[in-house]
Amino acid sequence: MRLTNRIALITGAGRGIGRAIAEAYGREGAKVAVADLTLDSAGETVAAIEAAGGTALAIAMDVTDEQAVEAGVQQVVATWGGLDIALANAGIQHIEPVHTLDLADWRRVVSVHLDGAFLLTRAALRQMYANGGGTMLYMGSVHSLEASPLKAPYVAAKHGMLGLCRAVAKEGAEHGVRSNIICPGFVRTPLVDKQIPEQARELGISEQDVIRNVMLKNTVDGQFTTLEDVAELAVHLAAFPSAALTGQSFVVSHGWHMQ
Ligand code: NAD
Repeated sequence: MRLTNRIALITGAGRGIGRAIAEAYGREGAKVAVADLTLDSAGETVAAIEAAGGTALAIAMDVTDEQAVEAGVQQVVATWGGLDIALANAGIQHIEPVHTLDLADWRRVVSVHLDGAFLLTRAALRQMYANGGGTMLYMGSVHSLEASPLKAPYVAAKHGMLGLCRAVAKEGAEHGVRSNIICPGFVRTPLVDKQIPEQARELGISEQDVIRNVMLKNTVDGQFTTLEDVAELAVHLAAFPSAALTGQSFVVSHGWHMQ
C-alpha cells in the first residue's frame, strides 16, 4: 500500500472524481476525511471505504464557508492527530456566454473553486507547517491551462487555482509542503453529464456532437478520461517521496492539451 496511515482530507468527495480518489486513498491505507455539502453524501463514500476495509470520516463542509472549513480541518486533526494530504476538489460548472452572465453566477462558480481552495489551503497549511510538512493537491482541469467558450467563470477559477498551487509550492517549500495540481480532461461524472444537454442547447448541435466534436475533439483517441485514471494520478502525487515534484500541473486527458 502506498499511503499507509497518511491522513487525507478531500473536499467534494461525496461523488464523482473526489469519491473515486477517496476510495483509492482508502485502498492504499490512508485515513480519509470525506468532506461534502451534506453528511449524507459524504457518508455514502465513507460507507464504501469502510466496506472495503478502510478508515474514513464524514464531514459536512461547504467549502465557501470559512467557519465550516476551519471546523472540518480541526475535526480531522482532533480525530487522527494531524493532516498529511489535503485535496481541494469540490467544484461546480455553469454553461453560459460571458455577455449574458449574471454577477451572481460568476461569483458562485469562482467562489466554490477559488475561495474554497484558498480556505482549505490556509487551514491545512497551519496544520502541515506545525507538523513538519504535507502535500497540497488541487483539482484543476485542462481549463486551468486553456479556455473553452461558455465556461468563463470556470476557466478563470481553474486558472486561478493553478496560480494558488504555484504560490503554495513556493511558500510551502521551507515547511516541507509540496503543492501540485491535477488537470483532467472530460470525465463522465454528474458535472459533465449535466452540461452535455446544456452545451447542445447553447451551441445548437446534438448531444452526440457535443461529446464528439466539443469534449473529445482534441484528444488523441476520442476517449473520455476515467475516474480510475484521475484517482491513480492522485495516489501517485500523494505518495511521491520527495519535493522534486512541486508546483507542477499534471494533465490527464488522452492527449488534450500537450504541454
Ligand atoms: P461532481 O459534480 O460529480 O462532484 C462534485 C462534488 O463537489 C459533489 O459531491 C458536490 O456536492 C461537491 N460540491 C459542490 N459544491 C460544493 C461546496 N460548495 N462545498 C463542498 N462540496 C461541494 O463533479 P466532478 O466531475 O467529480 O468534479 C470534481 C472536480 O473535478 C471539480 O473541481 C471539477 O471542476 C473537476 N474536474 C472535473 C472534470 C470532469 O470532466 N468531470 C474535468 C476536470 C476537472
